[in-house]
Amino acid sequence: MTVANLLEFDRDALAVYCEQLGEKRFRATQLFRWIHQKGAADFDQMTDLAKSLRDKLAGRAQVAAMAVVSELASSDGTIKWLFDVGGGNAVETVFIPEDDRGTLCVSSQAGCAVGCRFCSTGHQGFSRNLSTGEIIAQFWFAEHQLRKRLNLPEGTRAITNVVMMGMGEPLQNYAALVPALRMMLDDHGYGLSRRRVTVSTSGVVPMIDRLRDDCPVALAVSLHAPTDALRDDLVPLNRKYPLAELMAACKRYLDKAPRDFITFEYCMLDGVNDSDAQARELLALVRGDAAHGAGAVSCKFNLIPFNPFPESGLTCSSKDRVAAFARVLQEGGLITTVRKTRGQDIDAACGQLAGEVQDRTRAKQRMTRAPVQVHRAGSAVADAIQAGRALPSERSA
Ligand code: SAH
Ligand code: SF4
Repeated sequence: MTVANLLEFDRDALAVYCEQLGEKRFRATQLFRWIHQKGAADFDQMTDLAKSLRDKLAGRAQVAAMAVVSELASSDGTIKWLFDVGGGNAVETVFIPEDDRGTLCVSSQAGCAVGCRFCSTGHQGFSRNLSTGEIIAQFWFAEHQLRKRLNLPEGTRAITNVVMMGMGEPLQNYAALVPALRMMLDDHGYGLSRRRVTVSTSGVVPMIDRLRDDCPVALAVSLHAPTDALRDDLVPLNRKYPLAELMAACKRYLDKAPRDFITFEYCMLDGVNDSDAQARELLALVRGDAAHGAGAVSCKFNLIPFNPFPESGLTCSSKDRVAAFARVLQEGGLITTVRKTRGQDIDAACGQLAGEVQDRTRAKQRMTRAPVQVHRAGSAVADAIQAGRALPSERSA
């Protein structure tokens, strides 16, 4: 008999599972709350759950997260975990504390098939999709670890925001992604608002449409170039879904999106995509001028300083260039921010994820050594989260 991992099930799937065990569907909600709100993995701990159900679960089911290969804490409070997903593969999850929020950057795949030129995950190639359980396990583990470690009072949470910006292209793992997103949003789970869960995509057009219908959350689109010629080169998926189609999908998404703008991410590459002329081309693109079809896309720009890695052969634009580029967009009426780089000392910044596991052989060696390096989180983390955030159940009580 295979042992079911209950982290794989959103509440509906858990209800079906309970029914299969001959239990009432509502028991699933109790069970779901124990697992996700309280972080319980041991059925004996779930004292108010019918004894009959606990007995059935014992031996048949488990709550199993992935093994932690390493944990690193940055001087700025950022924490990066590397999880073993088997077969010599590992994925990374990063917690980024700020004054008013705690953001978790979650991976959706081991590797990535899109192969963007400026991305170390892309250079690593594609290994496999993560399951729903492996996606939510990153959240489950981080949230309950942080609560314990930071001594957060019962009913407060450490993670307030999620960005699907770790390793992988989430919209190329759609079937596993959506139930995981639903668990993040579920009031009996983590109760995050749709506005605080962001899916970042390199532009898988048909799946942007499906996400809009199935589970609309905040959307970030990795743009990186104002023209098809350049984007074809930087983000190879553009050859399949060119800019005109991508812009049209963004507009359709906004009909149902929880936020009234799309965030366009733009990685600043020296001499490649960072000229004033290219900034003006971007303005034309999002305004819907010329070849790219009628109508503007309501959007904000987030300029990401490129994190270099040797195999890319690319370098980051200078600070002045980034500022000048931002100014052109701002003067054109677009809200534009420059992303602060966090966790640089532990290679946790954008695109550096899994830099250490690019080479699978090395990853394997690291994992067999399995040094769980636990560096204590700096006080910045504690400070940032001390205010505490009420869970939905407590909030409404
Ligand atoms: N696959 C999705 C989400 C993961 S990548 C996507 O591409 O959107 C998350 C963000 O990091 C994307 O905007 C990506 O373009 C950016 N990124 C990747 N490599 C980077 C690097 N080396 N420096 C800076 N940003 C990078
Ligand atoms: Fe994949 Fe995103 Fe990296 Fe492109 S930037 S290779 S889509 S993870």
